[in-house]
Amino acid sequence: MSKLRRAMDLLKEEYGVPVVDRRDDPVDSLIQVILSQNTNDTNRDRAYRSLMERFQSPGEIKEASVDDISDAISVSGLHNIKAERIKSCLKEIERMRGDLDLGFLASMDVQEAKEWLRKLPGIGPKSAAVVLNFTFGMETFPVDTHVFRVSSRLGLVPDGSTRESAYDILEDMVPGERKQEFHINLIKHGRKICRARSPRCKECVLNCICDYPEVDLC
Ligand code: SF4
Repeated sequence: MSKLRRAMDLLKEEYGVPVVDRRDDPVDSLIQVILSQNTNDTNRDRAYRSLMERFQSPGEIKEASVDDISDAISVSGLHNIKAERIKSCLKEIERMRGDLDLGFLASMDVQEAKEWLRKLPGIGPKSAAVVLNFTFGMETFPVDTHVFRVSSRLGLVPDGSTRESAYDILEDMVPGERKQEFHINLIKHGRKICRARSPRCKECVLNCICDYPEVDLC
């Protein structure tokens, strides 16, 4: 059995198959993805709630000043950059489509939809993959910091890979129907066991298939 298949199965035994609430509106999802950059889920959610309390709708956010948006999302960190990015994205969507409805992405194939989203300011491969996976259930494999760290240590991607190159490799390697499960389970594992500092290798269910140099437990 391949290392990838073994890792997916071991993490599934450990964490199960996650149940994911599909996000309703792709524009909301896009805003949340921007807010999540370089922060944790708690601060992303707080910033999103604060933003929607202040502005009610993406259309209002688009018309607001960057300073006002920034003020509403200050808890998320890098709030000036994120405010600029949110407003620019909304303006660009409207310029390209005439409104803020991203529902048309559902009728595109995955590659086409990714390319469309990546034309937006500040939307890289991870952000596009998250929006398409969590809103439309498309088979994409977002590579965030946890996914990148655990898959690099395991040896699923070559030494010297960047997050972008890891994304291309893993997107091809991970079977479509297991992409969301493996993505979420890698994040859980990265937060709980395979931490950036002091990974808990002795307790790790992956320790017998891991390439991490300090592991010699099997
Ligand atoms: S064995 Fe250690 S380095 Fe490898 S995945 Fe587990 S915690 Fe991470």
